[in-house]
Amino acid sequence: MLTKKRIMVTGGAGFVGSNLCRYLLEKGSIVDCVDNLITGRRESISALEENESFQFFETDISDPDFVSMFKENNYDEVLHLACPTGVPNIAPMAEEMLVTCSTGTDNVLKLAHNNNAKLVYTSSAEVYGDPEVFPQTECYNGNVDPVGPRSAYEEGKRFSESLVSMYAKKYQVPARIVRLFNTFGTGMSPDDTRVIPQFLKQIRLGQKITIYGDGNQNRAHMHVNDLIQALMLVMEKGTPGEVYNIGGSTQMTIRELAELIDSLTPMPVDIEYRPHFIEDHGGRLPDTTKVRKLGWAPCISTTEGLLEMMPNYGVMTHEPDLLLFEESPKIQGVS
Ligand code: UDP
Repeated sequence: MLTKKRIMVTGGAGFVGSNLCRYLLEKGSIVDCVDNLITGRRESISALEENESFQFFETDISDPDFVSMFKENNYDEVLHLACPTGVPNIAPMAEEMLVTCSTGTDNVLKLAHNNNAKLVYTSSAEVYGDPEVFPQTECYNGNVDPVGPRSAYEEGKRFSESLVSMYAKKYQVPARIVRLFNTFGTGMSPDDTRVIPQFLKQIRLGQKITIYGDGNQNRAHMHVNDLIQALMLVMEKGTPGEVYNIGGSTQMTIRELAELIDSLTPMPVDIEYRPHFIEDHGGRLPDTTKVRKLGWAPCISTTEGLLEMMPNYGVMTHEPDLLLFEESPKIQGVS
């Protein structure tokens, strides 16, 4: 009989984390989910708590007792996702972000080292700051202001990467880094401040959707199920110490995203343009050649992902034969 893998997921009650825990349980693993619920939600894992292979620990990874608390658990793998998220949270949670990314990541790496566990650290496209090079390859060093308004998250993630890299080199911890680009899908909190859940919430409430700036800034959104496939692949086949971008390939301006959503729903979509409350990033597009060489490609288009998500967020979709809009052919995919 095959022994079940024992896996720790830090940040397991977040949007990506809870989807990941569900997937790992479906694959037959034993999952220990650690989250301090600063931005994660207990509701997102409540269905999983009935599974006897799942355990939730409301714990902060930067707790001085973190390593000793879990030292007997013999983890095979650690998926380290924990970090407060959301652009509006950068200012109020700056300290928590920095401590999580420094002391917290150090603790998680110590635990992986003690357990001889493989580790994947989820860094972020934010390490590139406001990029001046498109698409962003893993060797692009980025454009980050160390004391700028987004620095707690950007520099926090960069410092975490440095720690992971040091543990991989000095202690041979089989740790890999992934840089996640904008991700969406079912399981995002209705109060999530990221652009897609924000727009859906505003449409559901009959409010105007708020576009920050002129709407010409762009992103390439990736569905969470595609992301999970990539995380699994990097854990299985990635090289320790290496960095892999994981992100969508369909670049869209935020205005085009609003138009796409408008085309998918009979509900009114009116736009209000507002100045951003923080410095924005003008664009973001991953070069995913490295992870594709491991055998990954995103399968779910932004349109498909939105159509799946919208009814769960109280936004009606047109009948299939009335869906006129296809993702614009002028939008270029980048591998
Ligand atoms: N955005 C917007 N309206 C919103 C939320 C976000 O116009 O209600 C824009 C934001 O300015 C950014 C993009 O959408 O350019 C993506 O924002 P999000 O917060 O999802 O993530 P980011 O890529 O900034 O980390």
